Amino acid sequence: LGSYDGGQGNWIGGKVGRVPAGIGRRRMRIVVTGGAGFVGSHLVDRLVARGDDVIVIDNFFTGRKQNVAHHFGNPRFELIRHDVVEPILLEVDQIYHLACPASPTNVMGTLNMLGLAKRIGARFLLTSTSEVYGDPLEHPQKETYWGHVNPIGVRSCYDEGKRTAETLTMDYHRGADVEVRIARIFNTYGPRMCLDDGRVVSNFVAQAIRKEPMTVYGDGKQTRSFQYVSDLVDGLMALMEGEHIGPFNLGNPGEFTMLELAEVVKETIDPTATIAFKDNTADDPHKRKPDISKAKELLNWQPKVSLRDGLPLMVADFRNRILNQDEGKAH
Ligand code: NAD
Ligand code: UDP
Ligand code: UDP
Repeated sequence: LGSYDGGQGNWIGGKVGRVPAGIGRRRMRIVVTGGAGFVGSHLVDRLVARGDDVIVIDNFFTGRKQNVAHHFGNPRFELIRHDVVEPILLEVDQIYHLACPASPTNVMGTLNMLGLAKRIGARFLLTSTSEVYGDPLEHPQKETYWGHVNPIGVRSCYDEGKRTAETLTMDYHRGADVEVRIARIFNTYGPRMCLDDGRVVSNFVAQAIRKEPMTVYGDGKQTRSFQYVSDLVDGLMALMEGEHIGPFNLGNPGEFTMLELAEVVKETIDPTATIAFKDNTADDPHKRKPDISKAKELLNWQPKVSLRDGLPLMVADFRNRILNQDEGKAH
C-alpha cells in the first residue's frame, strides 16, 4: 500500500487507499493523546468516520481499551500504549492533546507533545479547562478573564497544571512558530464517562441506577453548565480546522444548581430517587457558566443538546457497565 508523505500535502495511500477523505480535502494522519478516554474516544469515532488515519496514544490510566475496541482491525486505526511523559517520535499532521491525569505529569506530557509538534510541523490542540478560571469573580466567564485560582489549594494541581499547559502552548507558538489551538472545556458528560471518578453527573446517574441516594455536596446551590459530549467534539474539530488560536470556551451555557441537576436525573432515571447531603470539598467553585460568544462568532459553533435531551443518551451505556461491574463483583 502507499506510504505516508510526512505532511507534505500529497495524497496518501496506494491504489487501494488513494481516495481523498471528503471532497477537496486530503486524508490526514492525526494523533489523539488520551484517545481511549471519555472525550477522546468520541473524537476518535468522528475522525475515523471522516476517513482520516488516527493514532491513539494512551496509558489507560483512566481510559479503557473497550472505548476504542470497535476500531480494532481497521487499518486506519492504531492504538499505542504509551505514557506521554516519555518522549515519542511520530509523523503526523495534527495532534489533539487530551491525555491528562489530575497531576503534574500533565505538564510534561504537554511539553513532549509540543516538542513533537515543533519537530514535524503538526498543528497542536490543547484541551484546557474551565478550571483555569478557578472560583471565578466574573460571571459568566469570558476568555479574557484571567481567573481566580488558589495556587496552594487541593484542586490547584489540576488547575495550575492546565494553566501552565496553556502557557507552554502559547510559548511554543510565539517562540517556535508551532500552530496551536486552545480549548477551555466546561463540564462535559455522555456515554463512556468514567463510572467512578467522582464527577457529579456520573455520580448522580450511577447512584440513581443503583437505587442509592444521590450525593449532593454542600448546600447544592453551586452551579455548573453541562455540555453533551457530541457538542464538545464538534467544537474541538471546528477549532482544529479553523484559523483561530483561541483560547475558546467550549461549553453549554445552560446553568444548573446541583439540586436542579439531581432533579433532572431523578426525572430521567427514577422518580423515586432520593438525595443525601455531604460535606463539600475545599475551594469548590461557587458558579460556572461559559460565555460562548467568541466561539459562536469565530468558529460558528454552539451546543445543540440540552441537559434534558442529553442525559437519557448516557443512561443505557451506564446501565450496561454497572450491570457488568456488579456481575463481575458477584463472581
Ligand atoms: P478521561 O480521563 O476519560 O481521558 C483522559 C485519557 O488520557 C484517559 O484515557 C487516560 O488513560 C489518558 N492518560 C492520562 N494520562 C496519560 C499519560 N500520561 N499518557 C497517556 N495517556 C494518558 O478524561 P476526559 O473527560 O475524556 O478528558 C479529556 C481531556 O479534556 C482532558 O485533558 C481533560 O482535562 C479535559 N477536560 C475534560 C472535561 C470534562 O468535563 N470531561 C472538562 C474540562 C477539560
Ligand atoms: N519530543 C518528543 N518527540 C519529538 C520531539 C520532541 O517527544 O518528536 C519531546 C522532547 O523529548 C522534549 C520535549 O518534547 O522532552 C520538548 O522538545 P523541544 O525540542 O521543544 O525541547 P528540547 O528537547 O530542545 O529541550
Ligand atoms: N458534586 C456533588 N456531588 C457529587 C460530586 C460532585 O454535589 O457526587 C458537586 C461538586 O461539589 C461541584 C459540582 O458537583 O460543586 C461539580 O463537580 P465535578 O467534580 O463534577 O466538576 P468540577 O468541580 O470539576 O466542575
